[in-house]
Amino acid sequence: MLGVEATYTNLDAHHKRYIATGVAPRTEPKELPSVGNSHQTSARSQSLRNAKPFSEFLTDTFHRQHDYLRISVTERCNLRCVYCMPDEGVPLTPNKELLTTPEIVMLSSIFVSQGVTKIRLTGGEPTVRRDILPLMHQIGNLRSKGLKELCLTTNGISLHRKLDSMVEAGLTGVNLSLDTLDPWQFQIMTRRKGFDAVLKSMNRILEMNKLGARIKLKVNCVVMRGVNDREVLPFVEMTKDNDMEIRFIEYMPFDGNKWNKQKMLGYNEILDMIRQKHPTVQKVQDEKNNTSKTWHIPGFAGRLGFITSMTHNFCGTCNRLRITGDGNLKVCLFGNAEVSLRDILRQSNGGEPIDDEAYDTLKLLEMDRRQGRSASGTPLAMTPNEIELLEVIGLAVKRKKAKHAGIGELEHMTNRPMILIGGQQIRLFSSLPATSGKNNENCQPKLTHVSENGAAHMVPIAAKDVTQRIATAACRVRFSNNTAPRLIRDNQMKKGDVLGVARIAGIMASKRTPDVIPLCHPIPLSRVQVELDLGEENEMPCIDVRATVECDGKTGVEMEALMAASTAALTIYDMCKAVDKGMVVDGLRVVLKDGGKSGRWEMD
Ligand code: SAM
Ligand code: SF4
Repeated sequence: MLGVEATYTNLDAHHKRYIATGVAPRTEPKELPSVGNSHQTSARSQSLRNAKPFSEFLTDTFHRQHDYLRISVTERCNLRCVYCMPDEGVPLTPNKELLTTPEIVMLSSIFVSQGVTKIRLTGGEPTVRRDILPLMHQIGNLRSKGLKELCLTTNGISLHRKLDSMVEAGLTGVNLSLDTLDPWQFQIMTRRKGFDAVLKSMNRILEMNKLGARIKLKVNCVVMRGVNDREVLPFVEMTKDNDMEIRFIEYMPFDGNKWNKQKMLGYNEILDMIRQKHPTVQKVQDEKNNTSKTWHIPGFAGRLGFITSMTHNFCGTCNRLRITGDGNLKVCLFGNAEVSLRDILRQSNGGEPIDDEAYDTLKLLEMDRRQGRSASGTPLAMTPNEIELLEVIGLAVKRKKAKHAGIGELEHMTNRPMILIGGQQIRLFSSLPATSGKNNENCQPKLTHVSENGAAHMVPIAAKDVTQRIATAACRVRFSNNTAPRLIRDNQMKKGDVLGVARIAGIMASKRTPDVIPLCHPIPLSRVQVELDLGEENEMPCIDVRATVECDGKTGVEMEALMAASTAALTIYDMCKAVDKGMVVDGLRVVLKDGGKSGRWEMD
């Protein structure tokens, strides 16, 4: 096969060896092949590097270590996906303001020197950057400095033409965007032709993988109600025979993309669709720092992933930093705070872009300095202004907030479209109280019931708007034997109808919340509903308690929902304790909140 031969000659040594010997590739996640002198030396230096404490510059105040960098290498794109870009495109930043290839390489090398092990190139469409291949080869050279993964997010239109060289450069993963399997629908969703080219790229990756290339393939599919939601199951079928991950992405709001809540399909809804056809679909343990939730259908070769940016928060383990096309560092995709690394970098070149020629000159100067021939007393650095850059990066990372804003806030926030930031996979949604003021980025999490001087106080709500608010809380009563559940079912408990009494108790308690929780406002509730489900967990009986409270008011009703759920659970406990001394009530939490400034929030 012609194509296969071509692939073979472009594979790295490991892959060639695989093809020659037929020995199956290792199953652990692929690392970029070493470019050191010997395998032994590189393994040793790698373990020494790993032994170093993680860079303080890349560690935030919540101890998150940022070892994953996403770089937008262009704002241009050859498609116009309806959820991403207007038909007429976006106003492009003048070329002079965009990062040059040497600048991207310098920044990459600084981040890798501090512990970044994964770099993803994105955009816009990264494959339309004219010098994408030399750029990838230069970044790929950072393998010797500790880079383990070099990935690309692409629409796949022209990928098939560049894939071989990219694999040579050290490409380890491709996220391919494809929202439909229907060529006509493709044209509607992307406003361009090109479906066949994307399939060609995808097939090429699968073909190369059969030869041992080990490119992690993920297909990104943004699901929009009434547009491509009927294609969820056909996409799932693709994982039957192919070792790939299909990732369903919740549709997110960006400036000008006409987002609305109704068009968005959430994680649970998509999963339900899949469950109806494949009831055995099961959750898989997610990798550390994974933003997607991974599932698998037994017997299928591939996996399913869900990017639940809109409905579930996973900011807690965020390890990502982003560099925009114009060289700004963004510590959170949905934060507006950006700091220009480009400007600092260019100070060493009189404020001008550092092109290949300027880069060579700077390298010569640096070598002079290393040989002690420079008059400069500055410490040795591999990049001009390295120390200053690191300090600025460190400050920005330290300002990263615990979590991102919620869906309600995002809808109204201004945020550069994805194409100007680069890539998806954000974590958003916050259960934190909404922060006020212009610069949300600088707001630290704080206790709302504690005043500036540390005294306990009620949160003033006079100036807040009246909105419809809903909260749902849940918990579980676990039994240690079957007696109580059996008696409940038969309604034979001495104290009477356990579930009926528990429901009423929950409703009453909810209305009494401000009498019990000192700083809660009295709120006229418009609805309290307590649901109790007898079920099983690990073959032991349990009752799931779920309480939903609604009001039209100025403050949320989470406490009322928690009161309802916990009191209903305690009532069950009280009524069953005569026949079961080993009951446990656990898992009390808010699982849904809607209304108010922070908008809708839902937990697994
Ligand atoms: N052009 C490349 C591509 O399409 O893969 C890389 C850049 S694109 C902005 C990166 C990813 O963001 C794509 O997978 C795309 O589907 C996703 N994306 C863009 N706008 C989105 C939105 N409004 N909601 C969810 N995902 C979005
Ligand atoms: Fe281009 Fe990617 Fe945006 Fe589609 S999602 S318009 S391919 S940048």
